Amino acid sequence: MRSVSIHCTSCGKAHKLDEAIFRCDLCNEPLEIEEISNGRINKGNILTQTIWERYEDFYPFLDKNNRFTLGEGFTPLIEMKDLAYSIGISGLYMKNETQNPTWSFKDRGTAVGIMDAKRLGYKRIGTVSTGNMATSVAAYGAAAGMETFVFVSKDISEEKINPIAMYNPHLIKVEGNYGELYFESLKIGKENNIYFINSDVPMRVEGSKTIAYEICEQLNFQMPDYVIVPTSAGGNIRGIEKGFREFKSCGLIDNVPKIICAQSLGCSPIYNAYYNNSDAITRVEKPHTIAHAIENPYPPSGNQVLRLLKNNGGIATAVTDEEILKAQALMAKEGILGQPASSVPLAAIIKLKEEGFLKGNEKVVCIVTGSGLKYTASFAMHQLYSAECELNELSDYIKENY
Ligand SMILES: *Cc1c(COP(=O)(O)O)cnc(C)c1O
Ligand SMILES: [Zn+2]
Repeated sequence: MRSVSIHCTSCGKAHKLDEAIFRCDLCNEPLEIEEISNGRINKGNILTQTIWERYEDFYPFLDKNNRFTLGEGFTPLIEMKDLAYSIGISGLYMKNETQNPTWSFKDRGTAVGIMDAKRLGYKRIGTVSTGNMATSVAAYGAAAGMETFVFVSKDISEEKINPIAMYNPHLIKVEGNYGELYFESLKIGKENNIYFINSDVPMRVEGSKTIAYEICEQLNFQMPDYVIVPTSAGGNIRGIEKGFREFKSCGLIDNVPKIICAQSLGCSPIYNAYYNNSDAITRVEKPHTIAHAIENPYPPSGNQVLRLLKNNGGIATAVTDEEILKAQALMAKEGILGQPASSVPLAAIIKLKEEGFLKGNEKVVCIVTGSGLKYTASFAMHQLYSAECELNELSDYIKENY
């Protein structure tokens, strides 16, 4: 293990990594671990290697004798030639994060969070979430033998709470302002020795770097023009951007792709600020979108995502629920069933092409963040059809109808 520095993303104040700290004690903006500028890939057999072994150089702060994994990462990057052709761009790729242990990218950050919690001697972990992060932390906490606390909002649906409950964490429905709970949990964690692996904590951001590393390898280090990330709290987009930046610092790639932050118009605090040329987000009142997984009205890393876009040269955009559902159906036609939030990048590409932002000669990667089976309620919003037929008439039926 090597010690690394951690600093505030806004005021730059240095903090110490030898305790569970998540936000700046001066300005309350998110913290970030220093950029790793010296590292290489441990080439090996990915059937026997974990992502933490392969990218070990980029995690000098983790104890390699105390790794924990459920086999997250090494997800496919699928080229979608027909879809690229019909949209009118030169390359379209989908990073299929539905193929993680709990069916979303969240597992990458959860693994790092668990390893960090263990390093610091914690026996208890927790999270504030009603969706993929709750499932992920519950699963990893159970497997790692940690006492696991999951705070959900009181009105959570059966479909969402049941998979979390299956992993048997301390599951608490919390009454009151759920939006405040993220910030409140940091205090609750301190008072009760619980390490909170919330949406944008530094270790979760570190976990998401591996998405960028894998894309670099899968594209043979030839960078796409854009990587589009459906964004809520902002942890994932921060990790992906940092991953590319680190590979460039290490000389593994020549240039970094531009990052596009994609949101739903029903809850788009980052896009709103970007559009208004503001460097601070404002809370969205009454958010409402089919893309539940990205419905955070006041993202804790929102301001940092704005800073990141500025430095990276990327943009923010937002799409309607109707566009999201259309994109979800288009992806299913290509064999990938993402949840509505995961269909936002494709919807954004179609919109950006129609608006002329994309000219047609670009290569673009979409991050398909989570599985369509996580939110079956969205199926009712599609016109789904099936026929009926008696067995003895089936052959004739096919001849007559197809
Ligand atoms: C968590 C999540 C996101 C948003 O990621 P952030 O790190 O909160 O920005 C997007 N899509 C899915 C499916 C998610 O579960
Ligand atoms: Zn600060």
